[in-house]
Amino acid sequence: MGSIQVENYDAIIIGAGLSGICSLYHLRQRSPTWRIRVIEAAESVGGTWYWNRYPGARVDSESLSYAFSFDKELVNEWHWKDSFATQSDILRYIEYIFEKHDLAKNIQFQTRIKSARWQDSTRTWLLTDETGAQYQSRFLISCMGFLSSPSLPKIMLKQKPIRSVIDGRPPQRGSIVNFSSIQGLVGILLSTAYTTTKHAVIGLTRTASEDYAKNGLRINAICPGYTETPLTTKSPEILKAMMERVDTAVPMERMGRPEEIADGVLYLCGGRSSFVTGTALSVDGGYVQRQIGAVNRPNPSRVMQILKESTGYGHKFKRLPPW
Ligand SMILES: Cc1cc2nc3c(=O)[nH]c(=O)nc-3n(C[C@H](O)[C@H](O)[C@H](O)COP(=O)(O)OP(=O)(O)OC[C@H]3O[C@@H](n4cnc5c(N)ncnc54)[C@H](O)[C@@H]3O)c2cc1C
Repeated sequence: MGSIQVENYDAIIIGAGLSGICSLYHLRQRSPTWRIRVIEAAESVGGTWYWNRYPGARVDSESLSYAFSFDKELVNEWHWKDSFATQSDILRYIEYIFEKHDLAKNIQFQTRIKSARWQDSTRTWLLTDETGAQYQSRFLISCMGFLSSPSLPKIMLKQKPIRSVIDGRPPQRGSIVNFSSIQGLVGILLSTAYTTTKHAVIGLTRTASEDYAKNGLRINAICPGYTETPLTTKSPEILKAMMERVDTAVPMERMGRPEEIADGVLYLCGGRSSFVTGTALSVDGGYVQRQIGAVNRPNPSRVMQILKESTGYGHKFKRLPPW
């Protein structure tokens, strides 16, 4: 019997949706000598936007804020037909990026990964696809998305319930933490669609927490406020506009650090939140409290004006970006 040929890579990315493409672009920039392979089940790029073609499918964030930020030229080069782009326009945009940056050479389509196993002895991942072909890699980046197919917490439901390490609290199977936003809890003027979807995450969390509580699963949501990320701090102009908004809208008068959001997630994942399910935890320096109390709300037209003046492309926004 012939032995199975294993293809070797430095990094494997599963999925060629927006996350897979973005990861591939950045990895190639940072490590040009690496052997990188993207493995995708579909026949082409796009992920969610390749699979979902039902009539009326479109984004719920404004097109400009949904676009890739790594290609600055593209902001002026690409003209969105609609403020909220349709599925076909987004797919065209993704295909354009794909061609422009010559990403095809790293991607293998029509291949579905069935399993991924960490091998301690070689400190590599071993992946197997549906045909039995195998791939080995030092790094594995999962960009498999979560909206390309419906999913149930099948693996969690099979897990053996365990007692909390804290002090042996009643056995549980696991904890799911969904990412919502402060906009899941309050409405912000001029961002109806984004606010609607973030509220939906909390609706999903509440309903699912009811459905699975009896099975020993806890399901909660986290609602981060303004947070220091590359999106909010990379450009001095955007940072300035953000800080003006933070100063008026956030009682603690600062943005959160990513670690502070992570600590909230850690709490909801861990044994110390053993009796908490169906909740939405705000980690926001007091933002939601101030909004609910309706004290000192920022003036949206002033925020819009700051954004237009302080960013090179602010004039393109017709509505407030969700962040
Ligand atoms: C109608 C609609 C509107 C949306 N609007 C917005 C919006 O306005 N703003 C926003 O931020 N987000 C929006 N989203 C969410 C959207 O899913 C994400 O923004 C983004 O497209 C997700 O990209 P991704 O690369 O993480 O995942 P996906 O796009 O889901 O890509 C995952 C890819 O991985 C592949 N894959 C999965 N498993 C395997 C496997 N085992 N082997 C090989 N390949 C595999 C899939 O085939 C798929 O192509 C919207 C989603 C939908 C459906």
